[in-house]
Amino acid sequence: MADDRDPGTPEAVALLQALIREACVNTGDPQSGQEIRSVRVLQRFFAEVPVEMQVLEASPGRASLVVRVRGTEPGAPALGLLGHLDVVPVDVAGWTRDPFGGELVGDDTNGEVWGRGAVDMLYLTSVFACVVREVALAPTPPRGDLVLLAVADEEAGGEFGLRWLLREHSAAVQVTEVLSESGGMRMGDHVAIGVAEKGSAGRRLVVSGVPGHASIPYGAKSAAFEVAEVLQRLSVVQPAIQFGELWAPFVAARVEDPELAERLLDPVRVDAALPQIGGIAGYAHAISRNTISPTVISAGQAHNVIPGEATIDLDIRTLPGTTDDEVDQLLTEMLGPLAGSVRIEHLHGWAASGSPIDTPLFAAIERAVRDVAGAAVVPNLAAGGSDARLFRDRGIPAYGFGLLEPDWSYERYRAHIHGNDERISVGSVDLALRALRQIVADRIG
Ligand SMILES: [Zn+2]
Repeated sequence: MADDRDPGTPEAVALLQALIREACVNTGDPQSGQEIRSVRVLQRFFAEVPVEMQVLEASPGRASLVVRVRGTEPGAPALGLLGHLDVVPVDVAGWTRDPFGGELVGDDTNGEVWGRGAVDMLYLTSVFACVVREVALAPTPPRGDLVLLAVADEEAGGEFGLRWLLREHSAAVQVTEVLSESGGMRMGDHVAIGVAEKGSAGRRLVVSGVPGHASIPYGAKSAAFEVAEVLQRLSVVQPAIQFGELWAPFVAARVEDPELAERLLDPVRVDAALPQIGGIAGYAHAISRNTISPTVISAGQAHNVIPGEATIDLDIRTLPGTTDDEVDQLLTEMLGPLAGSVRIEHLHGWAASGSPIDTPLFAAIERAVRDVAGAAVVPNLAAGGSDARLFRDRGIPAYGFGLLEPDWSYERYRAHIHGNDERISVGSVDLALRALRQIVADRIG
């Protein structure tokens, strides 16, 4: 295998290891993350390279780096490579190796790099940086701009990262098309490329009872029992199945058995068929409907007082096209006879986002994946959210890129991100590097 590796792969692997070791853990606390450490690593990586480099710090330590290689042709595309530097926390006890050691386990052509962020998404951030450096050092400048956006705070919503950059430094982050994370997983013979993400519509259900002394419950109307009834109902009444335009391509890519595929395409029979598609059933369930998960439930303040009010927070993930009003309507329908005694409050959220697939950038991705991996692309709806949506919201096409080795199924990918023993194979770094280099040449070379 050694001879097959790209000459740039060792450098991408070394940069990945360095970024893992900076341990920019984002807990959601504004002081966490401290991405300035990884920004410094990248600044050294670009030292002496002819690029425009800006360190932009939303608050102390919450820094992002923007590296721009200027193109020569006005009107040519400006391709943004959006990589985040922060990672989610770890449960150290669940790891077999140091989550921030950045160890290369196995040999340097077929081994794996271990550590938090290896998959989500430091391997891509590293590959992005390597290709930007190559382009900057090439004898001929590109036609269009190539921009590395190495940002802080993706894992907590981007208030100290891309959201802030787009608000306060829009000229610095100006691009016309974007590649980011949430792609590259294998689905059957296909490679998934992210084109859309579900939205989030947080809700709080408030139910009322009548407070009283807990020593004399006779005739009391406890909000705790009201909450139990509401939860019971939400566990039984389910949101309707809605197959969007990405459902059929997903089934076609993933399911070989024609009889099973037929059942999966039938809204009446799909749920009974889900257990037969194995580990991807949860994902298939999530992308075929709006989902509602009760998360934080609270009632009562004192041991001896019957609660007069109780709340249920709902994590609701919406399909593209679902409006806020439709979410409230859905909840009202699900609650049925209980709806009259429940008040619905809106928590934070964002709309689902998507990019069209008839763009030159998507076509370039398809060509690169075919040439580098010999595989076709299947456009993919992500169940979670990423910073890419902030560009889609502005009408800028953004795709979830990546290219993992053939044994990296969607299930394997899911098990690694935010999980224990996160790691990425050197072979996957190599594939992503080759594909990205081709896409960049295709678009702005
Ligand atoms: Zn990520």
